[in-house]
Amino acid sequence: MIATINPATGETLREYPALSSAAIEEKLALSFTTFHSFRHVPIADRASCLQKAADILESGKHDYGVLMTTEMGKTLPSAIAEAEKCAWGCRYYAENAERLLADEVVATNASRSFVRYQPLGPVLAVMPWNFPFWQVFRFAAPALAAGNTGLLKHASNVPQCALAIEDILRRAGFPEGAFQTLLIEANQVDPLLHDDRVVAATLTGSEPAGRSVARTSGSQVKKTVLELGGSDPFIVMPSADFEDAVATAVKARVINNGQSCIAAKRFIVAGEIYDAFEKRFVERMKALKVGDPMIADTDVGPLATSKIREELHDQVQRAIAAGGRLLAGGHKIDGPGFYYQPTVLADVPRSSPVFYEEFFGPVAMLFRARDAAEAIELANDSPFGLGSSVWTRDESEQARFAESIEAGQVYINAPVASDPRLPFGGVKRSGYGRELGVWGIREFVNVKTVWCK
Ligand code: NAP
Repeated sequence: MIATINPATGETLREYPALSSAAIEEKLALSFTTFHSFRHVPIADRASCLQKAADILESGKHDYGVLMTTEMGKTLPSAIAEAEKCAWGCRYYAENAERLLADEVVATNASRSFVRYQPLGPVLAVMPWNFPFWQVFRFAAPALAAGNTGLLKHASNVPQCALAIEDILRRAGFPEGAFQTLLIEANQVDPLLHDDRVVAATLTGSEPAGRSVARTSGSQVKKTVLELGGSDPFIVMPSADFEDAVATAVKARVINNGQSCIAAKRFIVAGEIYDAFEKRFVERMKALKVGDPMIADTDVGPLATSKIREELHDQVQRAIAAGGRLLAGGHKIDGPGFYYQPTVLADVPRSSPVFYEEFFGPVAMLFRARDAAEAIELANDSPFGLGSSVWTRDESEQARFAESIEAGQVYINAPVASDPRLPFGGVKRSGYGRELGVWGIREFVNVKTVWCK
C-alpha cells in the first residue's frame, strides 16, 4: 500500500493507488524524450534551477519539515534541518558542477587528448523513507546538474514527500520530465530496469532490495550505485574527551529515532574506561524524552512503521536470548503510535547471528575491548562497512584507526555525517559507488576519452 500513515498516531492519512503500466510508460517516454533536449541545456542554466530549488527548500522548510515528520516520525527540528541540508546540497552542485564536469586535458602522444563527462540518460532512483528528502536530493542534484533525467521510486510510506520533491524541482525551472516521481510498488521496479530507456539505477535501502536491483540491472548490463545498511562502530579509547564521547554516543545512536544508516550502532569501549562509560551511557539513554515528534524538546519520536518496530523488538529479544545483558529499555511503548524505549544491550555474543545484524531503531550494543587492536578487530567483524566514529586524542592511534577500519568513512572525535563536499558510501555489504562531491556527480556520466592527432 502506498500511503501516509502517521507513525506518531498510527492513523492512515492518505492512500494512493500504484501507477498503472500505461501511466508508467507515459512518464518513462517523457523522461527519455526530455533527456535528449535537457542534455544540451547549458550547465549554467541547470545550476540556476538548482539555486532556485535551494531557495524553495529554504523558504518552505517548515512545511516540508512538517510533511516529513507526519509521514515518517522524525523530530520536527531534524526534519527542518533536513530541508536546509537539501538546499546546501543543491547549492553545492549549482556552484561546482561546471568545474567538476569540465573537460580534463591529459598529456599523451596525441596532439590533443582530453576526457569529457557526458550525461547517460534516464536514471532510476529507488529511495528509502528515513531521510525522505535528503536521500533523494543527494541523488537528484548531481544527476540533474550532469544533464541526466531522474525517475524516483520512493518508499511506499512517504508518497507525499515524493510528490513534494517533484513539485520543488518543477517549480525550480527544470523542464517537465527532467525529474518525475513514480508512485509504484517495489514489484514494479523490475520491468523498469528491463527497459532500455532506463540507463542506470541507484538504490538506497536494505541489502535484499539492493541485491534485487543489482541482479536485474546486472542482467541488463546497467550500472548501479548501492547505498545499503550499516552497523557502524563507535570506538572510545582512554585518551578521549570522556563526557563529549558519551554525550555524542547517545546522540549518534538515536539520531533520526535510531533509523539512520550511519547511526552509531556498536559501541566498543576500552576496558579501563568501559564501566564508567556504560554507567553514563545508560543514564543518558534512560533520560531521553520519547514522544510526539512535533514537540520541540522531544529527543526520540516513533519508529516509522509498525513492522519496523516488530522487527526491532524481535532482534532485541533474540539478543537477550543469546546471552546479551539488557541494561535499559527493551520494550514497545503502549498506546497509539510506533514508539520504542531507548534500549541498551551489552555483551551480545559474537556467536549469535544477531551480533551481525543492523538494529534500525534506538537500540545500542556495548562491547568491551582490551586495547586498540581488539577494538579494530571487533569493529571489522561485521558484514557492513559504511561509517565509523573513533574517539581518541592519541595521534598515533588516530592514524592506526584511520588506516585499519574497514568502512567508507572514519570520523575521529566526531559522529559520522554526510557532507556534500565529501564522498559518501560503503564497502562490504554496505554497498558500492559513492554519492556527493566530485565522486557522486561522476557516477552517472559517460567518461569519454577524446584523442586527436
Ligand atoms: P528497503 O525496504 O530496502 O526500501 C528501500 C527502497 O527499496 C524502497 O523504495 C522500497 O520500496 C524499495 N524496495 C524494497 N524491496 C525492493 C525490491 N525487491 N526491488 C526494488 N525495490 C525494492 O529499506 P528501508 O527499510 O526503507 O530502509 C532501511 C535500510 O536502508 C537500512 O538498512 C538502512 O541502513 C539503509 N539505508 C542506507 C543508507 C546509505 O546511504 N547507505 C541511507 C539510508 C538508509 P517499498 O517501500 O515500496 O518497499
